[in-house]
Amino acid sequence: MFSKEVRQILPVIISPITDPLSHDVFDAGFLYFGQELQLTKSMILHKQIALMHDGYDAIYAVSPCVRLEKDTTTSRHLLEFSQVDFEFKDYSKEDVMHFMEELIVHVFSFVKDECKYELTELGRSLSVPTTPFKVFDKDEVEEKLGIDYEKLLSEQEKHSFLIISHEREFYDKEDPVKPGKYLNYDLVYPEGFGEALSGGEREHEHEQILKRMKRLGMDLEKYSSFVHLAERGILPKTAGAGFGVERLVRYLTGAKHIKDVVLFPKVPGEKVVL
Ligand code: ASP
Ligand code: MG
Repeated sequence: MFSKEVRQILPVIISPITDPLSHDVFDAGFLYFGQELQLTKSMILHKQIALMHDGYDAIYAVSPCVRLEKDTTTSRHLLEFSQVDFEFKDYSKEDVMHFMEELIVHVFSFVKDECKYELTELGRSLSVPTTPFKVFDKDEVEEKLGIDYEKLLSEQEKHSFLIISHEREFYDKEDPVKPGKYLNYDLVYPEGFGEALSGGEREHEHEQILKRMKRLGMDLEKYSSFVHLAERGILPKTAGAGFGVERLVRYLTGAKHIKDVVLFPKVPGEKVVL
C-alpha cells in the first residue's frame, strides 16, 4: 500500500449508515440518545465519501466489521472480522482487478519466501499465481454449474480467480452498456477455500442510486445522509474492494476453519466465550 501511495485511514466503527449487504443478517444496531446507529458491516459507503476530500485519491483501512450471520454451517464466516478495505478515485473495474492481482502475488511471494519454516511446520505448500487471473462471468458459470458455482469452481481451480458481474447491492455500478449486469468482482481462492474478497465500481449519480435503491425496496430515509451527497453531485466516481484478513490468513496457512486463525473467534451459531 505504501509503495503504491495508498493512504491509510482509520476505520469507522459506528454510523447511522453502513453496507446493507446482499444477504440477510441479524441487526447489529442500537439506539444512542434516540439516534439509531449501526456497527459497521463494511466501510464501503465511507470509503467513497472519504475520497471526496482533496488529496485523497487512494485509501485503505484495516476495518473491523460485524455481521451477525444467520448461516451457521459455514467454515469461512466470523461474526467479527477485519477487512483490508481499499478504494480508488476514478479507477475502473479492470484497474482494481489488476491492483488486487499484484497484491495477491506480492503477499503470497513474501509469505513463501519469508515464512518457509512456518509453512513447513503447517505442512502447507503455497504456489504463487501468475497474472492475469482467470475471469469467469457469473451468469455463464451459474448456467453451467448451477447455484453452487463458486464452491465448485473453488474446488476445481488451482489458482485464485475472479467471478464478475453478479448482482449485489445498490452501490455496485450497473453496466451502462449492459443494464442488469454489474461492474463488480469477487476474488476466490482455490482448493475449496472460497471467497476472498468482493468489490466493484460504485454508483455515484443521484438518479441511478435512487433507481437502484427503489428497485431493492430500500428505506431511502435511512440512507439520506449518503443520498444527499449524491444529490449535490459531490459523490466521487470510485472503485474498490476489501480483503478479509482472516480469510487470507486461513488460505495462507491452510487452516480448516477460519476460527483457527484468530485469537477470539466468534463463530456463527456458537456461544461467544471471550
Ligand atoms: N469491502 C467490500 C467492497 O468494497 C464490501 C464487502 O464487504 O462485501 O465492496
Ligand atoms: Mg462478498
